Amino acid sequence: MSPSKLSEMKVVIVGCGFAGAQVASQLNGKCHLTVIDPREYFHHCIGSPRAAVEAGFEKKILIPLSKAWGDKFKQGKVRSIDPEKKVVILEDGEEISYDFVVIATGSTSPFPGKIDLDVLTIAEAESHYKKLQEQINVASKITVVGAGAVGVETAAEIAEDFPSKKVTVVTNADNVVGGPFKDKMRASIKNKLADLGVVLIFNEKVTNLDELSTSSVGACTVKTDKGTEIEADFVIVSTGMHVNTEIFQEKFGDKMDERKNIKVNQFLQVEGHEDVFAIGDCNNADSVKMALKCEGQAQTVAKNIQALCGGKSLKPYKEVTDIIAVSLGRNGGAMQLKFMTFGSFVTSRLKSRDLFAGKQWSLLNQKLPANTK
Ligand SMILES: Cc1cc2nc3c(=O)[nH]c(=O)nc-3n(C[C@H](O)[C@H](O)[C@H](O)COP(=O)(O)OP(=O)(O)OC[C@H]3O[C@@H](n4cnc5c(N)ncnc54)[C@H](O)[C@@H]3O)c2cc1C
Repeated sequence: MSPSKLSEMKVVIVGCGFAGAQVASQLNGKCHLTVIDPREYFHHCIGSPRAAVEAGFEKKILIPLSKAWGDKFKQGKVRSIDPEKKVVILEDGEEISYDFVVIATGSTSPFPGKIDLDVLTIAEAESHYKKLQEQINVASKITVVGAGAVGVETAAEIAEDFPSKKVTVVTNADNVVGGPFKDKMRASIKNKLADLGVVLIFNEKVTNLDELSTSSVGACTVKTDKGTEIEADFVIVSTGMHVNTEIFQEKFGDKMDERKNIKVNQFLQVEGHEDVFAIGDCNNADSVKMALKCEGQAQTVAKNIQALCGGKSLKPYKEVTDIIAVSLGRNGGAMQLKFMTFGSFVTSRLKSRDLFAGKQWSLLNQKLPANTK
């Protein structure tokens, strides 16, 4: 690419989740920026487990995007990107031209982990959480399927606020929180869940997900492949994440791995396209997908767009590994930072109290709403 000024460049960011917001924040004011998302809000899903139980917390995890980016924000769903014409195409047919495009369409998981992409307004998203809070209030035997970080965080929030409810977590894995983490941290999570009265069942796959009470409260039996039957009246599914890359199948289908993650090179460019980047959950760059990795990826992309404009050499992305913080209620948790592990004291101060909501509102140039409880 011949040298040009970044300030004259049109940069389009497709998707404003953690990755898109980070790269937008890095480039804001430096180029002609357009940030596209179908929803009028940023979903701070890290706070979802708390919003499942605490009335008013939902307001802290739905952040208006128009206030973050002003008229640089375009509400709309992207249908495709045409790399030859250098345009992003919206569902209504509108075409937005770019010099650089950053794909940051992330991933989807069942509610309450994430919110469906067709829930477009804050009011609608709030009503989903309010309904869930009511369901959890009414239910007495709740089973969470999946013991990844999201599953155990959700179970802990319920158990902390409703000690008399029976909370069970069932997983086909042999431990909590998969990934390259220390057993010491996992042991600490299991101990804290036990203190909260959460029952953990490992190495058992739920076989009748379709028959369970996931959208309303009602007696049901969770059955596993080992013959275990768990009586429940509400079931929360915390498995089944998939990446939002179907729309790129036509143009970039040959750049996807078997899980449909977009394959990027060490500079986070989509293979074979100097001006198309992919970051966050939708690419294949990281071994474990996390919001905190998005910051490093966004910095790399912002620097590389700048470098391409100045005819300078590109910066490779380096994943930060061995880091995770798992909150277990407002005052509990466990975390790992490289070879060190920490318990509730450190984790609660770092994460559990507001689940990083304040940090995300500041990134999006706004103030966290005051407590509504
Ligand atoms: C409950 C929960 C708790 C978590 N806790 C943590 C944690 O504590 N720490 C941590 O590091 N990670 C955590 N994670 C993981 C983290 O949330 C993800 O890694 C992160 O969401 C990835 O960010 P992203 O921007 O790539 O994708 P997403 O957050 O999924 O954002 C993608 C965005 O793209 C938009 N989009 C999708 N399709 C289109 C389209 N066609 N056109 C335009 N826009 C589109 C979506 O509306 C969305 O806004 C948690 C995940 C969950 C579910």
